Amino acid sequence: MARAYNFSAGPAVLPEAVLREAAEEMLDYKGTGMSVMEMSHRSKAFEEIIGNAEKSLRELVAIPDNYRVLFLQGGASQQFAMIPMNLMKNKVADYIHTGQWTKRAIAEAKMYGKVNVIASSEDKTFSYIPEVKDLKISDDADYIYICHNNTIYGTKYNDIPETGDKLLVADMSSDMLSEPIDVSKYGLIFAGVQKNIGPAGVVVVIIREDLITEDVLPGTPTMLRYKIHADNDSLYNTPPAYGIYICGKVFKWIQSLGGLEAMKKINQEKASILYDYLDSSSMFKGTAAKKDRSLMNVPFITDSEELNVKFLKEAKALGFENLKGHRTVGGMRASIYNAMPVEGVKTLVDFMKKFEAENK
Ligand code: PMP
Repeated sequence: MARAYNFSAGPAVLPEAVLREAAEEMLDYKGTGMSVMEMSHRSKAFEEIIGNAEKSLRELVAIPDNYRVLFLQGGASQQFAMIPMNLMKNKVADYIHTGQWTKRAIAEAKMYGKVNVIASSEDKTFSYIPEVKDLKISDDADYIYICHNNTIYGTKYNDIPETGDKLLVADMSSDMLSEPIDVSKYGLIFAGVQKNIGPAGVVVVIIREDLITEDVLPGTPTMLRYKIHADNDSLYNTPPAYGIYICGKVFKWIQSLGGLEAMKKINQEKASILYDYLDSSSMFKGTAAKKDRSLMNVPFITDSEELNVKFLKEAKALGFENLKGHRTVGGMRASIYNAMPVEGVKTLVDFMKKFEAENK
């Protein structure tokens, strides 16, 4: 069996060890006589699965006790609405606009209140992260919103905005668990797990306890209230059970590698293999500003569309999958999430060097 080198931005590569373990447990999960897909979410076995998943995540990220962990559905996109519905008490929020995913989040928030875009990198096709020192935070803003890693444009925050006593909310869909984070700096963090954590269908929300209240915008549906999910330990309705089970295994896999510090080192090593080559190449160029480069998503181009097409075609024939850039950007993008082996990046760079030599 040959596994492809899968550079997809999401759904994305998962650790082979996790997939193998899940395969072994597929027909009979620990003597229950059924797969995790088939069991009641109220069963003892599943209670353990979700409990252990939360426990591992708390340990990994060092989540403070005054934060709740929720496993929800609706994709990261549903958070674009849940956040204003639950947190926009004054009906005002500040957003930093860094790409397609903040664009959608802004559009959604505008349905519920006033949105101030207090910084943006739209002037240079979102190829950088705006300066976050001395931001003009609105006095009446309920929260300040950022997308911590911009999947499409390959940028990430190295410094996050200092928001004082104002809430900072972050979309970490494409980099949660890639490196340590200080949860206490945020009011709410969320991630659609299908990039770095697990299969599509689960959204992890880490939310400070005092933000979980019944005081939400009028008309907020039951399923879109953080409180209902928190009060019911993410089991208000049938949760995405199988996805949560796989997430739990991925958390354990990261723990076995040494946790988030170790993960960050590996990710830095992988990313620098690719960035070092891009910086030395006369054919390929990285498109993100150096100071803001993502460890997870690496967009790059050549100066000819014809070469891009040729490169993608040859890469695919060799088993490198999903290297095409996002439809709004073009060119190429290698997503090198936690589960992409160092070997995968080295092999890709070897191919890029060969391609460059052959197409001078
Ligand atoms: N935020 C970011 C940073 C993303 O990369 C994506 C998905 N590509 C989304 C939000 C939307 O996620 P979903 O498809 O789960 O709604």
